[in-house]
Amino acid sequence: MQKHTITAIICLAGAIVASAIAGSSFLAMRKPDKIIRGPGVTEIKMLSEWFPDLKGSPGDTEVYIMEGADNGVSMLVLGGTHPNEPASHLAAILLIENFLPRTGTLYVIPRANASGFTANDPQEGAPQHFTIETPNGLRVFSYGSRATNPIHQWPDPNIYIHASSGQTLSGSETRNLNRGYPGRADGTLTEKVCYGIVQLIKEQKVTITVDLHEASPEYPVINAIVAHPKAMQLASDTVLGLEMQDIKISLEPSPVNLRGLTHRELGDFTDTLPLLMETANASQGRLRGRTDEALVLTGKDKWYVRAAKLGRLYVPYDENGHPIEERVGRHVTAIAEIINSWNWEHPETPLEFDNIPGYEDLLSKGLGAYLLPVQ
Ligand SMILES: [Zn+2]
Repeated sequence: MQKHTITAIICLAGAIVASAIAGSSFLAMRKPDKIIRGPGVTEIKMLSEWFPDLKGSPGDTEVYIMEGADNGVSMLVLGGTHPNEPASHLAAILLIENFLPRTGTLYVIPRANASGFTANDPQEGAPQHFTIETPNGLRVFSYGSRATNPIHQWPDPNIYIHASSGQTLSGSETRNLNRGYPGRADGTLTEKVCYGIVQLIKEQKVTITVDLHEASPEYPVINAIVAHPKAMQLASDTVLGLEMQDIKISLEPSPVNLRGLTHRELGDFTDTLPLLMETANASQGRLRGRTDEALVLTGKDKWYVRAAKLGRLYVPYDENGHPIEERVGRHVTAIAEIINSWNWEHPETPLEFDNIPGYEDLLSKGLGAYLLPVQ
């Protein structure tokens, strides 16, 4: 056999091995994370129950229902609108595995953009998964993409035109769930998911909707609640409640001219009171250094410490980083404060839940203490 033929066979064999390893690693992301049905969950439905067109599509996703005594009041929590913001879906999972409903109903969608969990963003070097230790073993969670998997929605247009306003954004934003509301029944997969969530809110007459996010530490709206004008009273009471617990948080009004986002469109198109929350996640930031599981979980990054010293950030940043316990703790505690604030204003129709993990407990015991064993 000729020498170059042998070289070609070796190269081809190497390419086959590399593709097999990479392929199985990519395919592994299509398997959804295990979420354990907590004792407070009364029913699990799929979003397609509210919009049947989603059935069997990669946009269909679980809706965990925790139903207490019916007084007509309910809350919807959206985790995983952006699957590269881990405190968002982890906080939603914590509610599912811990909260016990007493009065009113809680709906939790932990993977609002289910398709976005099946891939991660190219050229970001983000880990595909991260692991949390619990007293009963390890729990593994996906670190997904900001947007719908392009395999499920392709191609992107050059310019994304938001359907109901005509707002134009860059083409890839067509796969961003938080630019697609109120959605369209005959739109893209992303718009259909938005439409399904809007149908749920309308049919269930959801009183309050909370959309959980994280943002880069250099992004101006961070450690913040963004509220639609009609949810401003609820949001300002919540901010006061958090400040009384020494949790610094700012309040931002939903910009009128930024369209397609939950805190704008859900307020304009439905009767729900929409709020959006942001925490600081270095692993999605542009100034970060090495990007690995440790960065996702601890937020420790020397470049962000340096940026903070130069006054370039909108959140405090030191050698302690922003650990996942703090970020999930901020989300869960804010949800508890939103409930308190609602009850303060509406004592005759309260929302009441037991077994809500406390902020200090989360910081001292860690997230693992609040995650159930995998059955
Ligand atoms: Zn986000």
